[in-house]
Amino acid sequence: MKLPNYLEAKQRNAEETEYIYDKVEYPKNYFKNKKYFLKTYGCQMNVHDSEIIKGYLEELGFIETNDMNDAYLILLNTCAIRENVHDKVFGFLGRCKHLKQNKDVIIGLCGCMAQEEGVCKEILNKHKYIDIVFGTHNISDLPRMLIEHDNKLNINVFSKEGRVFENYIYKRDSKYTAWVNIMYGCDKFCTYCIVPYTRGKQRSRKHEDILKEINDLIDKNYQEVTLLGQNVNAYGKDSENEISFAELLDLVSQTGIPRIRFVTSHPWDFTDEMINVIARNANIMPYIHLPIQSGSNRILKLMGRRYTKEDYLILFNKIKEKVHNVAITTDIIVGFPNETNDDFKETIDIVNKCQFDGAFTFIYSKREGTPAALIDDKVSQEEKEKRLAQLNLVVNKYSLLNNQKLLNQTVKVLIQGISEKDDTKLYGYTDTMKLVNVKADKKYIGKIIDVKITEVKSFSLDGHIVSPSLIH
Ligand code: SF4
Repeated sequence: MKLPNYLEAKQRNAEETEYIYDKVEYPKNYFKNKKYFLKTYGCQMNVHDSEIIKGYLEELGFIETNDMNDAYLILLNTCAIRENVHDKVFGFLGRCKHLKQNKDVIIGLCGCMAQEEGVCKEILNKHKYIDIVFGTHNISDLPRMLIEHDNKLNINVFSKEGRVFENYIYKRDSKYTAWVNIMYGCDKFCTYCIVPYTRGKQRSRKHEDILKEINDLIDKNYQEVTLLGQNVNAYGKDSENEISFAELLDLVSQTGIPRIRFVTSHPWDFTDEMINVIARNANIMPYIHLPIQSGSNRILKLMGRRYTKEDYLILFNKIKEKVHNVAITTDIIVGFPNETNDDFKETIDIVNKCQFDGAFTFIYSKREGTPAALIDDKVSQEEKEKRLAQLNLVVNKYSLLNNQKLLNQTVKVLIQGISEKDDTKLYGYTDTMKLVNVKADKKYIGKIIDVKITEVKSFSLDGHIVSPSLIH
């Protein structure tokens, strides 16, 4: 049994990153035709980790099911960013416990919550019916843990691992768009954030390995890659021999893949060189997610964000000026401990100044083990909820205004599949990452087509195909 430890997780040693290329050996089809149910919480990083988990499970012979009652393996890939996910996960596990009383089933928990000290202690004390727990650093242990499973709780979570795995196998969710991890972990230690503890120190993949993965995706006819990292534009800073994120972007652009995106950028690491590379390469999409978190300099300092409101505005305007037709979205936290009304007004002010295309807005969630969790917060939950509602009104106003600019315009849309809400329509995304629903033949799935926008809402657009002449 190996339990997580925040002190260990916080250590950033100077050891070289270890790159693992050798395949993990295990008997293929060991669980032939057994079913698995995998539920994923959280960010794109977790969604992508689930693609790795599915890759391993299907090599072991498992078949995916959407019905947990039908599953031999129930696995929750969890997120630690907010407290409410913690409650949802343990609520869900409670339901799994009942299933276990009547049948032979393996229950597993992995992902960021597994990296939390408190969660593993809670499992040991109250949820011994869980069979396997593994963390973000040892996904490749999953086949072994399942094969060796002996109906006893097995927690295997490493806090400090400086490894990059190049031996993963994936079952990608899409045949047209792919996540490509370029780095793991984060060294920024924003004071509210648990990620540097749950995901470990920053480790960049070698750019040759990233380019090889993208070239393989091109051979399989993928149309879009999203370069993924917790702090994607700090790429390369953890190694003297690695290139910068701007140089990497340039090389990825030269592969010729039609669309390139990247998430998530930190304003502090956003260089002029990056802006120039984005501006001059047509296949790097004019869409940037640039978290501001707060408009108050006092709060930004307490958050450890390393920029001021003024720095952010300068960067924002520079990107707007240089990158043609760019859309910028952001993340905003409301109710950081002791946020005053004046601090909040500064946040509303920056939203008014930037008129973001969209924003993910959240109420601050206290995460044990982070510096912000030690602040004695005097602001009531009710006040925070009031501020969030007020902020959302402003944010949604600008989302709609930005979308309205596209009315009657013709835009290029990468069609990704059938709309979940209306199966007579297909859905896809513009270069600026706006969701478009369009009535069109299924043969257009996976293609980039011209769509005329005929209806505009705050969070999506409707349109029709202008001409069937395809770009790809
Ligand atoms: S840069 Fe992002 S992932 Fe890293 S500590 Fe800050 S908020 Fe967390």
